[in-house]
Amino acid sequence: MMDPQEALGPETLQGLREKRALLWLSPEHDPTDDGRDLPYDPSAAQARFERCAGLLARVFPELAATDGRLSSPLTPIPHLRQALSSVGEPGAGSEGAWFLKRDDILPVAGSVKARGGFHEALVLAERLAQEAGLLDEDGDRARLAEPSVREHLGRHTLSVGSTGNLGLAIGLIGAGLGFHAVVHMSSDAKAWKKDRLRSRGITVVEHAGDYAAAVASGRAAARQDPLIHFVDDERSEALFLGYAAAARELLDQLRAARRPVDAAHPLFVYLPCGVGGAPGGITYGLKRLLGPHVHCFFAEPTASPCMLVQVASGTQAPVPVHDIGLDNRTEADGLAVGLASPLVSPIMSRLLAGVFTVDDDTLFRDALVLEQAEGISIEPSAAAGLRGPRWLLGSPRGRRYLQRHDLTPVISGATQVIWSTGGALVPEDVRAQFRARGAR
Ligand SMILES: *Cc1c(COP(=O)(O)O)cnc(C)c1O
Repeated sequence: MMDPQEALGPETLQGLREKRALLWLSPEHDPTDDGRDLPYDPSAAQARFERCAGLLARVFPELAATDGRLSSPLTPIPHLRQALSSVGEPGAGSEGAWFLKRDDILPVAGSVKARGGFHEALVLAERLAQEAGLLDEDGDRARLAEPSVREHLGRHTLSVGSTGNLGLAIGLIGAGLGFHAVVHMSSDAKAWKKDRLRSRGITVVEHAGDYAAAVASGRAAARQDPLIHFVDDERSEALFLGYAAAARELLDQLRAARRPVDAAHPLFVYLPCGVGGAPGGITYGLKRLLGPHVHCFFAEPTASPCMLVQVASGTQAPVPVHDIGLDNRTEADGLAVGLASPLVSPIMSRLLAGVFTVDDDTLFRDALVLEQAEGISIEPSAAAGLRGPRWLLGSPRGRRYLQRHDLTPVISGATQVIWSTGGALVPEDVRAQFRARGAR
């Protein structure tokens, strides 16, 4: 086994310890690896979303307008590109078209967690209804909205441990589908998130300690009781596949926007990473569909670069950020995770191009820059990806990546997609605090 600290190299290790923003390139990464030999099939999740659309349109008023389809806009952000070059960070301007993938306005949950959360809740609802003889295997899923089925689901608890957004998603989606929903949160989770859940009759259990403690006790409670289903953010395949299904949606949107993806038109995607399920699932889905033409980079807080240290360590043994002297303290509560998912990190060892880190001040500042440039308001965690194109195009390491993979000559035909991951449910007074900190 390689010593994680040795694997990082002295320069990166020192940068991480000093919490300096940096770009790290995955040394083993081979863009032609498309992950198709791995045993996870995103098309099954797409099919589930399809057959459950009628159900979702009936149960969630927010989804009626799209006939029950969960999707978010892909928005051009030409002004952001210009605005970011005036805030004094590394590098020159960039070529290609910039887009923001607006998962910050996904219905019901207001974050990327809607994708994984809806999928896992639907997997469970289908299975329980079938086991109880209330639904045929190929029966109309809209039946799950009927009182007799909801009463059955209501005897079961959907539970989760969360820093915030996964709790919001599972709570709101679970309760919407008729489950009893219980959310285990760390006591430092944002007050408005707890309030919002409680106001919907969802049980919130608070735990001292961090996210890991909330997860551990939620998991333990579920082990004692077969009527509790625990959504395990660290190892859930259902969450992972729900996220992976987003790849097809992005591809359809790029096609509609006349942005081809091929050797002459590479796609770069920048994804904020917490435990890794959401960005990992999306990366996996994209690599399966686009192979060498898509390049995915994660964005992590300087205090919590858990996927970076896990993948860089070259080991499957857990490597928490504490091992290199970091404290996992960040205002980006969607990304405040000290240990990467053991399901996702081995997959990312193969498919991820690199990781860049972002300090908290920059998250708030960039969120404000985005709001001023494009009129789009997101939460700090969701702003983590905004520096992605600048790192790639304007830093020595980024340029080295482009050269290594013969991308420099085709960069003007590239499409840059920054994945925005949360914000729609943030109350106005909290938004005002975000703005004030961003303007500091
Ligand atoms: C959860 C979350 C992420 C990252 O997802 P993980 O699956 O934890 O990696 C990014 N942004 C926001 C706003 C989130 O809530």
